[in-house]
Amino acid sequence: MTFATLGLIEPLLRALETLGYQTPTPVQAQAIPAVLAGRDLMAAAQTGTGKTAGFAVPLLQLLTLEGPKVAANSARALILCPTRELAEQVHASVAEYAQHLPLTTYAVYGGVSINPQMMKLRKGVDILVATPGRLIDLFRQNALKLNQLQTLVLDEADRMLDLGFSEELANIYRMLPKKRQTLLFSATFSDDIRLLAGQMLNDPLSIEVSPRNVAANTVKQWVVPVDKKRKPELFVHLMRKGRWKQVLVFAKTRNGVDALVDKLQGLGINADGIHGDKPQATRQRALDRFKSSDVQILVATDVAARGLDIEDLPLVVNFDLPIVAEDYIHRIGRTGRAGNTGEAISLVCADEVNMLSAIEMLTRQTLTRKTEPDFEPEHRVPDTDASGQVVKKPKKPKKPKASGGGGKSNLGKWVDSGDAAPVEPSIKPVRKVPVFNTGPRKKK
Ligand code: AMP
Repeated sequence: MTFATLGLIEPLLRALETLGYQTPTPVQAQAIPAVLAGRDLMAAAQTGTGKTAGFAVPLLQLLTLEGPKVAANSARALILCPTRELAEQVHASVAEYAQHLPLTTYAVYGGVSINPQMMKLRKGVDILVATPGRLIDLFRQNALKLNQLQTLVLDEADRMLDLGFSEELANIYRMLPKKRQTLLFSATFSDDIRLLAGQMLNDPLSIEVSPRNVAANTVKQWVVPVDKKRKPELFVHLMRKGRWKQVLVFAKTRNGVDALVDKLQGLGINADGIHGDKPQATRQRALDRFKSSDVQILVATDVAARGLDIEDLPLVVNFDLPIVAEDYIHRIGRTGRAGNTGEAISLVCADEVNMLSAIEMLTRQTLTRKTEPDFEPEHRVPDTDASGQVVKKPKKPKKPKASGGGGKSNLGKWVDSGDAAPVEPSIKPVRKVPVFNTGPRKKK
């Protein structure tokens, strides 16, 4: 199959050829004809599958061939993304695909001044990429009208809910024309996403290019058990041992990012960090420097790192496991993209056993453990497996204190080593439950 056989117009074929896209990826092969036919779409596609072109390319074709010219302060298509970085990245891809078309594109997000965005929107744009909060601000300030909107794309919809955007999405939903095409993309499909899809989509075509909730099989994954306090030391040890050249590291909190970056920089290691507290320009600069290999180690929180496309990234390290199990799939999806192989290493301490169990259950695999010599944890990480059970080893029998002479004998409870290993009840994945309430569904 070629892009030409999918019925794409010449300016798009030319752009794709320049980018070196020879054959459509599976998600593109399914999504492009469906979008061109005007269908709503519910697509489960992992990161790195080419989903951006899957929705953007046919969308550009529809906007070129159909519909009126864009009006002032209007947009004909809206792509909603969970983070500023992803909005920038999606916009950069859309602009590349649109390079030979007479269409305008633009990205708006928070953390930067709203005035230039308001100015830019005056003439209207064909495709607007936006994060939910800033979109609502622009709408409320009358800088943007949505009555001309033909198509809405929800990119990484699961992440938008995880980040707490359910209320913003409900507000945006009320701002949209009822007659429109809606495309929903998500790497994972929870019940909340299915609920959202039920409200927003009209008779959608379902596309699933990889088994549900399974991480890319091009990524080799394993876990290194370690005590919490020794994680920084272990990280540096593994880095030196493995001669790591370019690593994206995930830490749970902003403070965690800063602490690790300080520690690495203190050792003369070329590291930088990105998280939600840093200004947008600083985050973008760190990311650009990481992409161009001027920075060797980039430490990030999930919010900052969502959806980043870094070519040939060989390694992702989970310095901390994510609280939301689905994030594990997104994190390791930063490597092993577009058919390349990659590695994902997770440093796991005893406190994180429930998160590990949730990840194994979600990805339906028991992650291999490789204990590093000299870093064996004092606080053992209990055994886990893909069934979601955390297996605690039987406690060692307590020896009765030697009762000498006339002293009292020890009558404390004795645990026989032959007792069955206590097994905790099945542990559910750790996740936030977003609330999405849009009222009754409106038909097209
Ligand atoms: P995405 O999943 O949209 O983030 O895309 C992941 C990567 O695959 C990006 O670097 C794209 O430029 C690249 N890509 C997308 N579609 C194709 C294709 N058909 N052939 C080769 N590379 C592609």
